[in-house]
Amino acid sequence: MALKGKKILIIGGGVAGMAAAIQMRKAGANIDLVEIDPGWRSYGAGITLGGATLRAFRTLGILDAFLEKGAAHDGADFFTSSGHLIANLPTPRLAGPDIPGAGAIMRPVLAAIFAEATRAAGTNVRLGTTFETLDNRDNGVEAKFSDGSRTSYDLVIGADGLNSDVRAHIFPDAPTPRYTGQCVWRAVLRRPPEVDRTKMWMGHKVKTGVNPVSRDQMYLFVTEDRPNNDRIEPARFVGMLKALLAQFSAPLMKAVHDELNEDSHIVYRPLEAMLLPPPWFTGRIVLIGDAVHATTPHLAAGACIGLEDAIVLAAELDRADSTEQGLQAFGARRWERCRMVVENSVRLGEIEIAGGDPNEHAALMRDSAMALAAPI
Ligand SMILES: Cc1cc2nc3c(=O)[nH]c(=O)nc-3n(C[C@H](O)[C@H](O)[C@H](O)COP(=O)(O)OP(=O)(O)OC[C@H]3O[C@@H](n4cnc5c(N)ncnc54)[C@H](O)[C@@H]3O)c2cc1C
Repeated sequence: MALKGKKILIIGGGVAGMAAAIQMRKAGANIDLVEIDPGWRSYGAGITLGGATLRAFRTLGILDAFLEKGAAHDGADFFTSSGHLIANLPTPRLAGPDIPGAGAIMRPVLAAIFAEATRAAGTNVRLGTTFETLDNRDNGVEAKFSDGSRTSYDLVIGADGLNSDVRAHIFPDAPTPRYTGQCVWRAVLRRPPEVDRTKMWMGHKVKTGVNPVSRDQMYLFVTEDRPNNDRIEPARFVGMLKALLAQFSAPLMKAVHDELNEDSHIVYRPLEAMLLPPPWFTGRIVLIGDAVHATTPHLAAGACIGLEDAIVLAAELDRADSTEQGLQAFGARRWERCRMVVENSVRLGEIEIAGGDPNEHAALMRDSAMALAAPI
């Protein structure tokens, strides 16, 4: 199925869907992308990016924009809760010898970089629109949209995230997202000069860290066990986050504790995971990104594997003799890597919740980092 001239619908304008649009436009496909949110907004504070993510940015052609608007660095420092250095982990330079091995950026800034590249590639973007029905036939898919219009496509890509409607439509018996027993707090703060890379402090059952997202901002993340996935009123955010940080006596964490206030853009998010066993397609409808492999942030690789899905899907479809062959090849190349990220991330969380063996935790982190460094 050479992509040139093919008509493809992408449902969902997150990073995975936008990456698919960018790569498939390069191969000459005609792309419609529908995004349900009329404002195409991106929520959250910062996002941490490993070397494999920066490598994907280079392939997509957005690495320079990221380096200009985000923050790139090498290595990560780990401390005790009182601030004693435990380890410095190297981050291999996977995007090239001249590009640092890790980084972070504000989520809305990253989303804007992707949106600009998606439109510049010539994607037909329709905001505030979704599908109503998808009629999956031998020779194409007829989509009926929420605005009443209908169009036929050679292929439909569901990139509509954790609670994917496309997944529910084509695989009604698929597993649904599961709460893992942990939640993450994030906030945006002024960046002091000593925060020049990822820094993490390991408390008793609470883990915290900071990561630069630009020249003068950093984001704070705190992982906490919470057996019940109850809603928390935003009015309680500052007090609850300060209480969690009180156990950290490291000077930088004390400063963070004191600086937190109502304007710190605090976000609270229960962690959920979901892994759909293959196949990830039926007929001419295929799923990518969180729609098939939603992970917790323990390896900071969820966005990475969604971008890689898009890159591999475009490559395999473009060189395959048939759509089915391309979709089979896509799944075969992606399954083991995505399974590894989701299952190892969930296991890391389980070890943290149980107060388990730190050696198992460290070994799993190391093995996962090595696996992510492998070419896709
Ligand atoms: C707390 C937390 C922290 C994380 N931290 C990191 C990190 O540091 N590094 C990292 O790499 N990953 C991280 N991740 C994972 C990462 O955020 C996700 O893996 C990534 O955003 C998934 O991208 P996606 O495009 O598949 O889905 P999404 O980003 O969810 O995008 C889906 C899009 O589809 C749209 N949509 C939904 N339904 C429909 C519909 N019916 N029709 C049309 N459009 C629809 C949505 O509006 C959205 O724009 C984290 C996740 C969590 C929960």
